[in-house]
Amino acid sequence: MNKKILILGAGISGLATAHWLKKDGYEVTMLEAKGKPGGAMDTIEDRGFLIDFGPNSGLETTPLIRKIAEDVGIEDQMIYANEEGNKRYILRDGKLHALPTSPPAFIKSKLFTTKAKFRLAAEPFIGKSQDGYYQSISEFVKRRLGQEFLDYAINPFVSGVFAGDPDKLSVKSAFPKLYRLEEVYGGLIKGMIKGAKERKQSKEESKQSAKMFSFINGMQTFPEAIAKQFEGSIIYDSVINKISKTENGFKVSYFNGGNNEVIEIPLLLSTIPAHVLSTVIEEEEAELRRHLEDIYYPPVMVLFLGYHEKAIGRPLDGFGYLIPSLEERKFLGAIWSSVIFPNRAPEGYAAFTLFVGGARAPQLFAGDQEKLISEVIDQFSRIMDVKEEPVLRTQRFWKKAIPQYNIGYVEHENFFERFEQNNPGFFLSGNYRGGISVGDCIKNSDVVYNRIKKLSNR
Ligand SMILES: Cc1cc2nc3c(=O)[nH]c(=O)nc-3n(C[C@H](O)[C@H](O)[C@H](O)COP(=O)(O)OP(=O)(O)OC[C@H]3O[C@@H](n4cnc5c(N)ncnc54)[C@H](O)[C@@H]3O)c2cc1C
Repeated sequence: MNKKILILGAGISGLATAHWLKKDGYEVTMLEAKGKPGGAMDTIEDRGFLIDFGPNSGLETTPLIRKIAEDVGIEDQMIYANEEGNKRYILRDGKLHALPTSPPAFIKSKLFTTKAKFRLAAEPFIGKSQDGYYQSISEFVKRRLGQEFLDYAINPFVSGVFAGDPDKLSVKSAFPKLYRLEEVYGGLIKGMIKGAKERKQSKEESKQSAKMFSFINGMQTFPEAIAKQFEGSIIYDSVINKISKTENGFKVSYFNGGNNEVIEIPLLLSTIPAHVLSTVIEEEEAELRRHLEDIYYPPVMVLFLGYHEKAIGRPLDGFGYLIPSLEERKFLGAIWSSVIFPNRAPEGYAAFTLFVGGARAPQLFAGDQEKLISEVIDQFSRIMDVKEEPVLRTQRFWKKAIPQYNIGYVEHENFFERFEQNNPGFFLSGNYRGGISVGDCIKNSDVVYNRIKKLSNR
């Protein structure tokens, strides 16, 4: 039984899998390009503000999240969004409207017209489509719920989750649970009622009811605490440049401090982004390269703004807002970071995290970045009725931010499965497989751990 494994990438996917493997007695080595763990989970502090440049929170969709937090002794640092975090806004005609969360609120809401509300009532009577993986989330929602629901609920929702384009994302690959409601129960409304029972039995939480969590000192607390157990066996500042097969396993070359080092290993788990893996895998693996490089990662800029609280003209009573494409703004939405969790801004200040670009508007980054940022701040100030300039402004540009599970993704998914079967000992993971959310990456870490265990027990 072989228990020596090399993991490429110390983001949450790599670290969570490493955690289960270590508990099972595996000898784990990890290579990470940056000088710290976490990948997309990246928190910094600046002048008393706590800034998450990647995920600002996660949804506790699996008990595995708390299990890891307990194992690494940080369960007391885990915090949940306060009540206000449940209230989300959507911009329509320049005004923020609360997203209704109950049938009476939906009936009263001004976010949707009466026509759209009647259209929603028809949903249970609409039949299934045979398009499966080749149906976009736009087509699916338009057919089941109507154009207005697509424009003012799903379009902004998709940019909030994937920074994605609803016309391109495959409903079955990107939103499998939503698709399943139609497949299994014949409709979304019927499925939501009946599906709740099933989830209770499996102890999994739906994304609608799962609690939103973070850590008192930001999301990076989590990968940092997991990584602590691997001190000495995570080799930081190591940029992998080539992976090849050997007679007994795999050979991985990497640059570290100006030197080119090599590790030979029987078991290999890659969690580095698909677009990076495609460039370091040996040339003989042309088909794998093609599938990996085909997965689109759009650019996203995260803009963090700090203000005097008194400068904000509207009440801060929610999670933040999303902006539908039809509203034609230069940003996708804003999270009211200091409202949801404590410790995000100094006393008397408010903090906001804005998202710009994504698959909806990658062209925005072709021009002058300073001009773009000032336009975004100007639009944000109008929506929020802000009377001052920000006291703090900082941004992170993610050139390739989030993998898109676009139409055609199923071919990549099937290929990755075949690749693992044909290359025993080489495992592919990371957020381009099994879901992009922090919760999905952690759920998937357990799936990957079990695949590795099954092979090493053979
Ligand atoms: C801006 C943004 C906002 C997000 N918001 C949310 C949110 O609110 N909620 C949520 O649930 N999810 C959110 N996500 C998604 C989620 O954070 C990510 O999908 C998840 O953290 C990815 O983890 P990962 O380990 O799969 O990949 P990564 O975190 O990308 O880790 C991969 C690691 O590989 C390393 N690496 C890359 N190339 C090399 C190389 N050549 N050699 C060695 N190492 C290399 C990287 O440095 C990195 O550490 C967000 C993502 C982004 C970018």
